[in-house]
Amino acid sequence: MEDCLFCKFAKEHNAKVYDDDLFYIIKDINPQAPLHYLAIPKHHFKYLTEMTSIDTENLGKIFAKISEMSINVLHLDGGYRLVINQGDNAGQTMPHLHIHILGGKEMGWSPA
Ligand code: 5GP
Ligand code: ZN
Repeated sequence: MEDCLFCKFAKEHNAKVYDDDLFYIIKDINPQAPLHYLAIPKHHFKYLTEMTSIDTENLGKIFAKISEMSINVLHLDGGYRLVINQGDNAGQTMPHLHIHILGGKEMGWSPA
């Protein structure tokens, strides 16, 4: 997608925490926890409902990879939270699906 920042970042972001054929991880520019990453699939889609069977398969692989890297690469000792905002009520601002990875402290639970 031409005007999509996260599609552009796939090619040119110079501070990726992780990068492979399926997805990349960067630090969120406006962190909501001491550790706040974004895991971003390289294929552009906004909503989970738009996923092809390949996207679905890839998302499973992305979750597996995040868990594999959680301690050694992402330093999420003690646990972490994954969030995917979908649509306006959830506050989705970027039109390219991404997984928030939050950690680095004991978090509360009051998303509403
Ligand atoms: P959403 O609200 O769509 O779930 O999350 C979008 C996230 O992207 C926000 O947490 C926001 O801080 C982050 N973000 C927006 N623009 C940039 C950027 O240019 N660089 C980085 N690293 N994160 C960004
Ligand atoms: Zn995109």
